[in-house]
Amino acid sequence: MREYEGSYNKEEVEPPIYEVVGAEKRPKIMDSVDIAWVAGIFEGEGTISFSGSYPQIAVSMTDFDVISKLGEVTGLGTITKRRLQEPYKQQWTWGVWNRRDVARLLCAISPLMGQRRRERIAGAAELLSRRPLKTGPQVTKPCGTKAAASRHRYHGEKVCGPCLKAEAAYLRRQKNKGNNG
Ligand SMILES: [Zn+2]
Repeated sequence: MREYEGSYNKEEVEPPIYEVVGAEKRPKIMDSVDIAWVAGIFEGEGTISFSGSYPQIAVSMTDFDVISKLGEVTGLGTITKRRLQEPYKQQWTWGVWNRRDVARLLCAISPLMGQRRRERIAGAAELLSRRPLKTGPQVTKPCGTKAAASRHRYHGEKVCGPCLKAEAAYLRRQKNKGNNG
């Protein structure tokens, strides 16, 4: 497993096989062809946004097969469906927000990206390096919490009742906050 060091140096790109492990259930090894494919898609359609101080990455498309392949090839992220009104086509988004996964993925594709995105990636790397990634076993939140709801999605599971409730309650609180402020 490559440890993320907060910056990426092209000279360090070797060997051409990267171990990209997302959820423990879905470990994937990306070879150089996979990485090039992901980089190509990301160059055209990818976005890096910042939630709080953490970078998240996403690709949105109307082609479900491409979005699905991004999940399969990387073994990372979550696919979401966006409901659109006619006459717009159904849009799909592949998103990665786990910090460790974001770091791995950006690290792998960075050398292949164009100038503009490399700068954006450098910014993301800077933010990621401010708080070191946790290693070792992590304490996970139990069902009935928003964190557990996210974890269900991350592992491709159906979100259980208590987790759905907790998530809805969180969203209501956020909405109320927005209305009051
Ligand atoms: Zn649950």
